[in-house]
Amino acid sequence: MTRVPLRPALTDLPPYVPGARVPVGAAAFKLSSNENPYPPLPSVVLAISDAAEDVNRYPDMYATELTEAIAASLGVTPENVVAGCGSVAVLGHVLTAVCQPDDEVVLPWRSFEAYPIAVTLAGAQGVRVPVGADGRLDLEAMSAAITPRTKAVLVCTPNNPTGPAVRADELDAFLAAVPKDVLVVLDEAYVEFVRDPQAADGLALFARHSNVVLLRTFSKAFGLAGLRVGYAVARPRLASGIRAASTPFGVSHIGQLAALASLRATPELMTRVEAIVAERSRLLAGLRAQGWTVPDSEANFVWLPLEDQATAFADRCARGGVLVRPFQGDGVRVSVGEPEATDLLLEVAAEWLAR
Ligand code: PMP
Repeated sequence: MTRVPLRPALTDLPPYVPGARVPVGAAAFKLSSNENPYPPLPSVVLAISDAAEDVNRYPDMYATELTEAIAASLGVTPENVVAGCGSVAVLGHVLTAVCQPDDEVVLPWRSFEAYPIAVTLAGAQGVRVPVGADGRLDLEAMSAAITPRTKAVLVCTPNNPTGPAVRADELDAFLAAVPKDVLVVLDEAYVEFVRDPQAADGLALFARHSNVVLLRTFSKAFGLAGLRVGYAVARPRLASGIRAASTPFGVSHIGQLAALASLRATPELMTRVEAIVAERSRLLAGLRAQGWTVPDSEANFVWLPLEDQATAFADRCARGGVLVRPFQGDGVRVSVGEPEATDLLLEVAAEWLAR
């Protein structure tokens, strides 16, 4: 038994539960981690195998070429972009860059399960503001929760796991109310799946508000979850702070070149996103037609507010060959996958209601 003391904050750290893995040889659809169901494009696989030849060398520490390509694709400058080992790591660096012990970070709840962990590890206190029954962030309550100790507010849009995106008018009013020295992190991990014309446009807000940081990822629409590439978009001074707080060489050489190849293949990848969005509509409509109450979703998942039945429903789905993600007491998140997976999920969902 070691006598080395751990930080007391670790004792209360909530677990980050990874989505269940598909057992080897099992015919199961994995709808538990909001992944892209499509395999990488041939051009991306080629970039990966080419990059593999150079892995005896460290990668480009600042992912220069990738950063430039991301900046060009967004209409910002490379000084605005900080790439890292998945946007979850970048979030950690953002919080480390601005928080000191006992600072507060306001966050919606239920939202992305990594938030309370990242806040605690940055040494700060999380202040959770409940998400409405309709799955929408309550930005008024979040702004009311800001105190002189608040260093940052996390805004997840679309919200994982409930689905809705924040509307532009709501976010405008919120940003007008938030003090300019409080960082507002807009986590847009699922932005490519948003179709609601009233949804907030993070890039436009970033241009207008110097305290806004965007978080984006190659894990979802770009289908590179396994390679861990995400990034922040921030004003240059904030971006240098985030770089200073980052893990050196945080994006692998393979990750950098695969992300670059994926950016170059954006039109092709967005065709796949379109198919996922169409599948989302079919899943939502099918569930609602069965009688389920499902919040609107602007992401690649839908939310079933099953409360105490969450685990039982997820177990039932697993027996039917579909892995979904239960949050016991709250609900079940179902990622949008292959059409066959939607069919199977709808079958299990209908049986559940008829039981
Ligand atoms: N933000 C949100 C809202 C997410 O749901 C996720 C992934 N589940 C991430 C960030 C992290 O993505 P990654 O670290 O793979 O870039």
